[in-house]
Amino acid sequence: MEFLKNSLLDLITETSTNLPPDVRAAMAAAGPVETPGTQAAQAFAIIASNVDMAASGEDPICQDTGMPTFFIRTPVGTSQIEIRTAVCEAIAEATRRGKLRPNSVDSLTGRNSGDNLGEGTPVFHFEQWERPDIEVRLILKGGGCENKNIQYSLPCPLEGLGRADRDLEGVRKCILHAVWQAQGQGCSPGALGVCIGSDRAYGYALAKEQLLRTLDDVNPNPVLAELEARIMGEANRIGVGPMGFGGAVSLIGCKIAAANRLPASFFVSVAYECWAFRRLGVRLDAASGAITEWLYRDPARPVERLAKAEGLPLSGREIHLEAPLTEEQVRALKVGDVVLIDGDMYTGRDAVHAYLMKNAPPVDLRGAVLYHCGPVMLKQGDGWVTKAAGPTTSIREEPYQGEVIRRYGVRAVVGKGGMGAQTLAAMKECGAVYLHAIGGAAQVYARAVERVAGVHLLEFGIPEAMWHLKVRGFLAIVTMDAHGHSLHAEMEKTTGAALAALRDR
Ligand code: SF4
Repeated sequence: MEFLKNSLLDLITETSTNLPPDVRAAMAAAGPVETPGTQAAQAFAIIASNVDMAASGEDPICQDTGMPTFFIRTPVGTSQIEIRTAVCEAIAEATRRGKLRPNSVDSLTGRNSGDNLGEGTPVFHFEQWERPDIEVRLILKGGGCENKNIQYSLPCPLEGLGRADRDLEGVRKCILHAVWQAQGQGCSPGALGVCIGSDRAYGYALAKEQLLRTLDDVNPNPVLAELEARIMGEANRIGVGPMGFGGAVSLIGCKIAAANRLPASFFVSVAYECWAFRRLGVRLDAASGAITEWLYRDPARPVERLAKAEGLPLSGREIHLEAPLTEEQVRALKVGDVVLIDGDMYTGRDAVHAYLMKNAPPVDLRGAVLYHCGPVMLKQGDGWVTKAAGPTTSIREEPYQGEVIRRYGVRAVVGKGGMGAQTLAAMKECGAVYLHAIGGAAQVYARAVERVAGVHLLEFGIPEAMWHLKVRGFLAIVTMDAHGHSLHAEMEKTTGAALAALRDR
């Protein structure tokens, strides 16, 4: 199959860089629902620009290019071993070209393999079918939304919703709870794949498989179709909104399957997918490996722009900050302010935060802006080029962040999804803020990086290293300030009340 590797490389590249039409359509319909001038509307506008930038530059939509998960159907007699080898070669090549971030980490040593290959990576689901051609479908689902997957074992109590029993009403409560518990941490608005029943492991697999359905299809099972429609209406009344900023659109899709279960078990498994819903597929000629058909899209139809206007949606009221920052600058900020940052930023996520608990930082962090980000970087000559650089989910650093602020004098933490009470207390005590960037907007933020000034701790791998970035016009919203206010704590309360109102309907 002489064309197989190149066909797979095309599939991987297109999946990472070009949002499928059904997701574009859902996002295009959702944006205008938000009130103009709100942070929710601003988030949609930035996301739309990001999607266009990624497609036109053939760059990753989001810096977290996820766990490559392949669903492959082959005719009888086709070598699955040959396909598996070609997929691995294509994955390694796509990583070299910066279309995928090196995302495969040895769970025992912490070492990043650097090419997205390793034990259990990528993920394969093979099936035989009776057609003469090969079908390959790919989902790239990132860690932020993967961490918001959730499984319920009924009957169970649910915060705000009371008891979920072993019936469709109990299932409804679980799905609504899944939307609420994700808040903005999975880069809402999200789409859900749900499985009612099965066992713990296969239930999750079937839930993820639902993400292969297009957002606009209708479930052939009328009971499930009705439940899906009902969830779409009710979930969007909870008010989480894009990025958890509050708003009318929390969900762009809900796809539910039901599978038989053991008499003793009743699981509801939920796969939470972010707005950067990267899923595509191809049909291949089984003799040559050449692409005969694209799934989910019509290549003859040009990609339509998502953004209504050029550039970032600015109001003129943005506050310009030059980093490093002073305590006075930071204490003047309050929740809701929109800032544009120029100057120095340092990335730091899980490995860096753990390192800082035992070691001094490799740079002076006094007044620093610390960016929760695992970028896609490509080496060019002696330097590095930023290919994608959006925020990662901040809550993972909650056990460390307060201590990092106190010890090293960090003045601003940039990330997405917000942080908790310990970080908020440290911010109040020391004078620091949390700045919310738009999750998944990796191209918008890559273009705010003027240059990469250096890199430290590269032994942690590209996503986990501490990158020194020189930025200009980096847009973020203050969602936790030095006066003890947190939009995230506030949103959890108000959306919790809205969730409780859906308890018995
Ligand atoms: S959009 Fe958000 S949740 Fe999705 S892959 Fe990117 S960072 Fe992760």
